[in-house]
Amino acid sequence: MGEGGGQVLRSSLALSAVTGTPFRVESIRARRSRPGLLRQHLTAVRAIAEVCGARMHGDALGSRELTFEPGEVQHGDYHFAVGTAGSTTLVFQTVLPPLLLAAGRSRIVFEGGTHNPMAPPFDFIARTFLPLLQRMGASVTAELKRPGFYPAGGGRFVVDLTGGQPLSGLSLLERGDVEQVGIEARVSQIREHVATREMKALAGALADLPIEADTAVVESAGPGNVAVVTVRTPQLTETFTGFGERGVKAEKVAHRLAGEVRKYLAADAPVGEHLADQLLIPLALGGGGEYRTVEPSLHTRTNIEVIEAFLPDRVKLAERDGFRVEVRA
Ligand code: ATP
Repeated sequence: MGEGGGQVLRSSLALSAVTGTPFRVESIRARRSRPGLLRQHLTAVRAIAEVCGARMHGDALGSRELTFEPGEVQHGDYHFAVGTAGSTTLVFQTVLPPLLLAAGRSRIVFEGGTHNPMAPPFDFIARTFLPLLQRMGASVTAELKRPGFYPAGGGRFVVDLTGGQPLSGLSLLERGDVEQVGIEARVSQIREHVATREMKALAGALADLPIEADTAVVESAGPGNVAVVTVRTPQLTETFTGFGERGVKAEKVAHRLAGEVRKYLAADAPVGEHLADQLLIPLALGGGGEYRTVEPSLHTRTNIEVIEAFLPDRVKLAERDGFRVEVRA
């Protein structure tokens, strides 16, 4: 189905736990070079099984098939460790919907990677995703205790939430003027001038925008470098991230990142590519809503298909005024 990756699985798990609908998924991550459940996916499976007292078959590393029968969602204290530098934020997005909907307080500690390429970096969760959920009425906060980069991992963040608050609808149709652009570069166990050079290149490439700059040396279990650009507009803050890589110049990381920001600004839609796929489930489970977005990714189209399987006729994707997603409550 769709992108044929981890998202089909994670979205199915969240929707199954919330709706009480059992499911079976076959050919897990069939379109990936290492198919089946990797540690990050297995952590998500076991985490949500713990949260909703599920019975399951196929929860093993490398497994390509999973049967999942959810039970009742229990709020409380949870601790989920990916065990490697695998993404903790993807585990967070799997367990969040059921815990937000079940009445009661939860505190969840996540351990592993917090800043991974191909997953929402913690900054995206804290600055882009959660503020929108809070606007919908969700009582949820996340605090980064320590970043975790690939390959050492060892990051940690804590989520506090009170589930069962009614979630209102959300409408994000106009982007409006850019109010502020934050640029930040962080390094752990890497020479600080990498961050300084990224900042200089970013400041140059985005010089016509209202920039606020900040560099920092952070403590992590291993080396890591991340550059983050936040774009604040009247309705929301979008977050873009670039990762330093061995053999890739700091300037190149910065220019790639600035290119992503430019592309977003040129599209004139408030909701960027990644937020577009991540808003679908909260809106479908909450009060619905609508948003204008950039050209939908395969992840977005896949998530719509998965939601359709659990909650038919809720989401419509229209090509009107760019791209427009409408979600019925
Ligand atoms: P696989 O596809 O190999 O199974 P996976 O399970 O690790 O990989 P995906 O299914 O690709 O992950 O899902 C990645 C999720 O991370 C998507 O929701 C995507 O929008 C989000 N994401 C990726 N990059 C970013 C980013 N830079 N900022 C915010 N979110 C991101």
